[in-house]
Amino acid sequence: MRKSDYTSPERLEAEVEFDQALRPLSFTDFYGQEKITDNLKVFIAAARQRDESLDHVLLTGPPGLGKTTLAHIIANEMGGNIKITSGPVLDKPGDLAGILTNLEEGDVLFIDEIHRLNPVVEEYLYSAMEDFRLDIMIDSGPSARSIQLSLPRYTLIGATTRAGLLTAPLRARFGITNRLDYYNAGTLEKILHRSAAILNIEYDDVGLSEISRRSRGTPRIANRLLRRCRDFAQADPRLKKFSGVISQQVAQHSLTALEVDEHGLDDMDKRILQCIIEKYNGGPVGINTLAVAVGEEPGTIEEVYEPYLIQEGFIKRTPRGREATRLAYKHLNVTPTKENQPNLFS
Ligand code: ADP
Repeated sequence: MRKSDYTSPERLEAEVEFDQALRPLSFTDFYGQEKITDNLKVFIAAARQRDESLDHVLLTGPPGLGKTTLAHIIANEMGGNIKITSGPVLDKPGDLAGILTNLEEGDVLFIDEIHRLNPVVEEYLYSAMEDFRLDIMIDSGPSARSIQLSLPRYTLIGATTRAGLLTAPLRARFGITNRLDYYNAGTLEKILHRSAAILNIEYDDVGLSEISRRSRGTPRIANRLLRRCRDFAQADPRLKKFSGVISQQVAQHSLTALEVDEHGLDDMDKRILQCIIEKYNGGPVGINTLAVAVGEEPGTIEEVYEPYLIQEGFIKRTPRGREATRLAYKHLNVTPTKENQPNLFS
């Protein structure tokens, strides 16, 4: 594992099994995001009363915040099965036809990374979403003909980290759209309590609270750090006297050993802050310039990294660009002066 993997919100290969074990299957175990879940509960109850399928749902937001989990919960609550696929996997219209024609009434089709759908496949998806119909061309040349397949009433749940890349026609076909936000430490702590109980991990509350504060507002990272802290508590000879329990000392020791930042910031977060402070005197710097300087796409910075840095008060978005705040200077141990940060002194 690379150092930065601990705080990366993306799912790691080895995590698939744990993700499944820890994934809540009902709204009761899904903590936080109340505005979204309260509404979804109403829409699900109403659809069930009318004996209809739920309208198509679009879930957006940074990785690791619970989009896949919500899709599973919705399928469960609707009493249907869930089929999971992703934008890049649905390469040809035939792939889409194969998966759609295998659905049953009330099923959920979950398409992750829906912004990466091939435009031709996306075109087919329009009528499949709107009219539950698929017009497929078979053969080519003079014998080409189109056949119409009618589909069962299913619910499409699309997930994306990059809402800005969705085309307008696709976006317009979702009746329900929700953006997931980062979790506060209190909610992450509740998630960690539940995960620790499932994994039979011994802990004390302060230990879990320490992990929750350093998980970048992301349940996937919190669960990952919990498992690593368990390893330290169990097998690190430097910690013998703590006997397998995740206490505050164990959590602090483990997170320091993993080089997890006090705020759980990952490598890219830190590069962004460093770049604004060191290369651009604290800003303002435009998003495109910043993107080139840190080697990431502007959209990914805007939709994946920036929201957390803004929420935690490290950067400010101004009409002229992004600016580092005093907190960012403090975090990187740089003392702002009139020369290196004219904005803070103006
Ligand atoms: P995404 O699809 O947004 O990348 P996932 O749904 O795969 O994220 O969530 C990652 C992990 O975090 C899941 O295994 C799940 O256990 C946990 N998780 C996410 N959101 C919650 C929540 N609100 N409550 C409890 N656990 C959660």
